[in-house]
Amino acid sequence: MENKEQFRNWLNAFQLEHPLVIAGPCSAETEDQVLSIAHQLKETDTSVMRAGIWKPRTKPGNFEGVGKIGLEWLKRAKRETGLMIATEVANKAHVELALEADIDMLWIGARSTVSPFIVQDIADALKGTDKTVLVKNPVNPDLALWLGAVERLHKADIKNLGVIHRGFSTYEKTRYRNNPEWQLAVDLQNEFPDLPLIVDPSHIGGSRDMIFDICQTALDLNYDGMMVETHRDPDNAWSDPKQQITPKSLEQMTVDLRIRKEHGEAAEFKNKLNTMRTKIDVIDHQIINQLGKRMKIADDIGALKKKNNVAILQNKRWNEILAKMVHAGKNNDLSEDFVNKFLKAIHQESIEHQHKILSKDSNPDMKQ
Ligand code: PEP
Ligand code: MN
Repeated sequence: MENKEQFRNWLNAFQLEHPLVIAGPCSAETEDQVLSIAHQLKETDTSVMRAGIWKPRTKPGNFEGVGKIGLEWLKRAKRETGLMIATEVANKAHVELALEADIDMLWIGARSTVSPFIVQDIADALKGTDKTVLVKNPVNPDLALWLGAVERLHKADIKNLGVIHRGFSTYEKTRYRNNPEWQLAVDLQNEFPDLPLIVDPSHIGGSRDMIFDICQTALDLNYDGMMVETHRDPDNAWSDPKQQITPKSLEQMTVDLRIRKEHGEAAEFKNKLNTMRTKIDVIDHQIINQLGKRMKIADDIGALKKKNNVAILQNKRWNEILAKMVHAGKNNDLSEDFVNKFLKAIHQESIEHQHKILSKDSNPDMKQ
């Protein structure tokens, strides 16, 4: 899709809903599993059924997908339910087989998007197709790499393009399987407001109880759709069991989600305002989380000072921080007065934290 208007037209052409719901199992397992899920999904708001048939697995030896026989099962699911069908392609052979099977929508997985060689091969194999191609973000939080992949497909004359936000790997464990780094997706939206953006709450959350909130945040940020891993028996799925929900839960979720319709001037104004407010909320959360982390380090410093009998307040260090941050503030259009006040408040909190640690075994020499 060159832009959102085209995306809406495309949805209309297929009589699909906005936001677009793509759902289905992480992996196609058996013909019976694919067909029964398809029939259950037919009763929900789902427009496109997904199922992976070639599975990229972190470790060898795990279930690596059923392979091309799965295409036949998907075709049958489409014939029986009328749902559109989608699968992941990771090389030229996959693309050729998927095109031959007339799969409606193809996606490029996070582990493929990281490699310009792989993306180029896929783009060459897809050249000029009118299929919809969705590019998942690369596993690492690199916006340029993500957009580079989109550009390779665009240059191969693929018009129906969109992106899927599935979160990013982090070394440090977070409560997410793949950290959403909402800010990065927000930057992408700011730069390319017209590129259709789909959220994948299953791979972001890694756990089914997080799916609803992640979808709601995405919708508040004006995303165009969601891809939710959905299985008839999630706990016994052959891959990603924890992050899949049943078609019934999916149905309930789409009822409960606040979905903003974008019609009328007043509604459009409200939507824009809400989107901007959600962007601010995302940043505020990041600021508070980072401050929490900073405070923990301050606690460790407090403990270290205590052990070494060193005073809490070190004026030289504090003045250095202040000067550096006032300078950084200028580059970000923040007044010196604001940066001073903000840092003083942080510093005060830090000192109070350190005092608490010291007072556990108070030593008057160390206090100032
Ligand atoms: C998937 O969608 O099943 C998948 C493997 O996703 P990702 O590429 O985001 O890990
Ligand atoms: Mn999966």
